[in-house]
Amino acid sequence: MSLQNIRVVLVNTSHPGNIGGAARAMKNMGLSRLVLVDPVDFPSTEAVARASGATDVLDAVQVVATLEEALVGCSVVLGTSARDRRIPWPLLDPRESGVICIQQAEQGGEVALVFGREYAGLTNDELQRCHYHVHIPSDPQFSSLNLAAAVQVLAYEVRMAWLAAHEQPSKQEKLEATSLLNAQPVTADELEHYYGHLEQTLIEIGFLDPAKPRHLMPRLRRLYGRSGISKLEMNILRGILTETQKAVRGEPHKKRRQD
Ligand code: SAH
Repeated sequence: MSLQNIRVVLVNTSHPGNIGGAARAMKNMGLSRLVLVDPVDFPSTEAVARASGATDVLDAVQVVATLEEALVGCSVVLGTSARDRRIPWPLLDPRESGVICIQQAEQGGEVALVFGREYAGLTNDELQRCHYHVHIPSDPQFSSLNLAAAVQVLAYEVRMAWLAAHEQPSKQEKLEATSLLNAQPVTADELEHYYGHLEQTLIEIGFLDPAKPRHLMPRLRRLYGRSGISKLEMNILRGILTETQKAVRGEPHKKRRQD
């Protein structure tokens, strides 16, 4: 399970409630590995209360003293920042981050999502240990999300990317695949046959006078050329022409013939 290769790292968190909130957000999205770097107040009953049932995530928490220790074994590290472009660095939005996390994890790589302090975020030194920076595109006038809320946004995007990589094709997708088959495009030679058949029929029903064609066929060619007609649709049109010809020639109608 690739989600197990993704760890959430909270650096120097002040409020234990945020640790519990982060654990809950993670468990909702199928993430289970929480690493705390030098938390101010942990273990804590407030963390347990805010985890609201995600106590297994809290029980399995790994507490370490430095970010370096938290990142051991990681091939990709994403550092989140409430401020856009604090230092010039490869910057991702949460959606791109989710995709990168899952791509790495699916290949067996270990990934870390790093979150900063409530009051001061991550230091420049910590941000420079990250391969990518992630900014949630919040309103620049009020850009800083609650820590657990930021964890929720990133965890959600990881889950969406994971679902996209794992989901069986939905009913809708299967339907679309079938209609794609039906929508096989008609080839130029098939279209030429159709134009011949159409012209012949239009003459037979008296709509086209070969002596005075008045650009009718080029105009119809332009119309059909624009329509992106499929093989299936072409068969229907050919069927209509055939039946029209039978009708003007007084030949038996398809249905009547079956009677
Ligand atoms: N005053 C701090 C805000 C820290 S908010 C600052 O200006 O950096 C606590 C943590 O939540 C941040 O370190 C980051 O990990 C995460 N966070 C909050 N808002 C975010 C946003 N808009 N984009 C990405 N991460 C965000």
